[in-house]
Amino acid sequence: MKAMLIKRITSLSEDKDPLIFEDVPLPFPAEDEILIKVSACGVCHTEIDEIEGRAKPSILPIIPGHQVIGSVVEKGKSVEKFKTGDVVGVGWIYSSCGKCEFCLSGLENLCPDFKATGLDANGGYAEFMKINYKFATAIPEELKNDVVSIAPLLCAGAIGYRSLSLTGVSNESKLGLSGFGGSAHLVLKMAKYKFPGVKIYVFARGENERNFSLELGVDGAGNFNETPPEKLDAIIDTTPVWRPVVETLKYLKPGGRLIINAIRKEEIDKETLLELDYSEDLWKEKEIKSVANVTRNDIEKCLQLCAEAKIKPETQVFSLQEANKALGELKEGKIRGSKVLII
Ligand SMILES: [Zn+2]
Ligand SMILES: [Zn+2]
Repeated sequence: MKAMLIKRITSLSEDKDPLIFEDVPLPFPAEDEILIKVSACGVCHTEIDEIEGRAKPSILPIIPGHQVIGSVVEKGKSVEKFKTGDVVGVGWIYSSCGKCEFCLSGLENLCPDFKATGLDANGGYAEFMKINYKFATAIPEELKNDVVSIAPLLCAGAIGYRSLSLTGVSNESKLGLSGFGGSAHLVLKMAKYKFPGVKIYVFARGENERNFSLELGVDGAGNFNETPPEKLDAIIDTTPVWRPVVETLKYLKPGGRLIINAIRKEEIDKETLLELDYSEDLWKEKEIKSVANVTRNDIEKCLQLCAEAKIKPETQVFSLQEANKALGELKEGKIRGSKVLII
């Protein structure tokens, strides 16, 4: 089968074609695994972290991609659910142990043995992939026919859903979104549906992103250093760097919470953290909390919510061979909605 592979750790600014297009053997499903014929796979900033080594793949070469939609074409003999032809999705969670204190308390995302799709096992930048059937999600009937729109829901959507839950916002809250890429625009739609009274302010460095957010109905948009008209209960930061965190903490109300939705932060502006002013930015019980991975429940809940609210991400499609181009544009911040590979 054809696949795009990460073969070595490199830098996207020097190496414009870090993924290698190759023929690789077709995966063979074990007893408890299904083989999926991939129809579409979303492109995520995490792939850049993998290629550049901030989130180092545990095996090389590896096929990246963790927002996978496809249909079941083969299954092992102990697979209890799914039949051939079923449309399934695979997100960031490839497996967890199922036995530890985290797995047993609904926090499988924090399992010490958490394995990530496309990082610890081959993912969806390929014609086929395999996974334990327990970690594949059935796609709701209403969504099945639009594989391009579902793909970004499996990571950007699911982790956005998790971030939104962690903010604790309600109908009267004021929510800030710092950065306005794939995950943030889905959070915006989910938040507006779940909490119609919530007010949302977007902080983004690019004018295009700000205008895009205004088109989608946010209550205000500005650069990171532009003070919003009112103090915020929570902020979700989806940027890859530190400056936005330091700039926006002062916009939080006392007791407010900033959620960092990023698997890794880049090192380039780390010294910005020294500008943190304790009394203004952190005192009065302000919190900073990260969001790590996703659970199967986050993926299912996100898909249900999006089906119910008819939420569709804005997408931009590429072919499998164009994956490097899609990643390059993502790295340069050329973002308008989510990038999806059609396989
Ligand atoms: Zn992702
Ligand atoms: Zn576990």
